[in-house]
Amino acid sequence: MSEKKRNFETDAVRTQSNRTSFREHSTPLYLTSSFVFDDAEQARALFADEIQGNIYSRFSNPNSTELIDKLCLLEGTEDGIATASGMAAMYISMAALLKAGDHVVASRSIFGSTHQILSTLFPRFNISHSYAELNDPSSWEKAIQPNTKLFFVETPSNPALDLIDLEWIGKLAAKHNIILNVDNCFATPYLQNPAAWGAHLVTHSATKFIDGQGRVIGGAVLGTKKLIKEVRFFARHTGPSMSPFNAWILSKSLETLAVRMERHCATALATAQWLEKRGEVVYVKYPFLPSHPQHALAKKQMRLGGGVVTFEVKGGVDHGRKFLNSLKLLSHSANLGDTRSIATHPASTTHSKLTEAEREAVGITPGLIRLSVGLENPDDIQRDIAQALELSQR
Ligand SMILES: *Cc1c(COP(=O)(O)O)cnc(C)c1O
Repeated sequence: MSEKKRNFETDAVRTQSNRTSFREHSTPLYLTSSFVFDDAEQARALFADEIQGNIYSRFSNPNSTELIDKLCLLEGTEDGIATASGMAAMYISMAALLKAGDHVVASRSIFGSTHQILSTLFPRFNISHSYAELNDPSSWEKAIQPNTKLFFVETPSNPALDLIDLEWIGKLAAKHNIILNVDNCFATPYLQNPAAWGAHLVTHSATKFIDGQGRVIGGAVLGTKKLIKEVRFFARHTGPSMSPFNAWILSKSLETLAVRMERHCATALATAQWLEKRGEVVYVKYPFLPSHPQHALAKKQMRLGGGVVTFEVKGGVDHGRKFLNSLKLLSHSANLGDTRSIATHPASTTHSKLTEAEREAVGITPGLIRLSVGLENPDDIQRDIAQALELSQR
């Protein structure tokens, strides 16, 4: 092919490990714990890092290497590591680079377990943190301390769908010599590439839209060669590796990411627009709705608005719960990014341990419903929501 860079869909489909002597078309599953050495010299050179190659599947495996090679092309990063879960990715991407005395600034609205790492686990090792607001740039500048080593950001946030200007935070991080780590799970590499705006690390829960079919748990840390080298050392010796089976599933999942995200986003936008006209709904939030306070920013840094829509059911907690109990087609589950549409009520489930004031601070109003829009026909999704909204108000 010519010098022109291949496009996203082509990289997603055509990035494959080398074919074996069986000439298979689809990459096989390499269920092997270790690999044999040609001779003593090769074994020595592999262990000395003088040559690249597989030794043991805790370190690398052809399936996880294929997944990472593909994710690096899709995110525009130099290197990466596949992990057993999204949380393993979040944890090692921070733990590998921080030491006692360091400080982290994170966006206030982050995934619950990431919050637990910062607030409960890291303080045991004398690593402190502050929270800053996604939509208030000055709060980031104020939170920086002389020992601030890392920014951790989630955009769009879960479930409030607030954004941060990636170009702005990328420049702030560079100016202060701080590592910028972006959890890109909600957007996926198809919608947003934080590395293009200066992120040094891009972290993923592959469990969500990357798998997209609700089957496996997995994660990835992607980033610069220099930082991934340290993260790889940490991972190699602590062992949060992804299984070859999950890597095989996830690499195949990426082949369809673009077409799936196009449909998730089209149905999500149509459903958000439709919800805005419903009398039982107080407000709807979706990055590509003109009513979103950061709509222009969403258009600047995201290709499409994503697969998650949030809305507030009139009447608060009780009516929000009534809405969920009235759904017939949509699933009531804690996951997102599945082929099946899923509704959740954060105030009584995922965020029930926070006080009402804490929930308010991260944009979780009492009747808020998080809707992960699936790949069913949009009319059927809307019909089910309509009947549940009617029942929610009785
Ligand atoms: C689900 C999720 C995680 C955690 O990923 P797991 O694969 O469940 O470990 C981290 N960040 C975000 C934004 C998520 O949605």
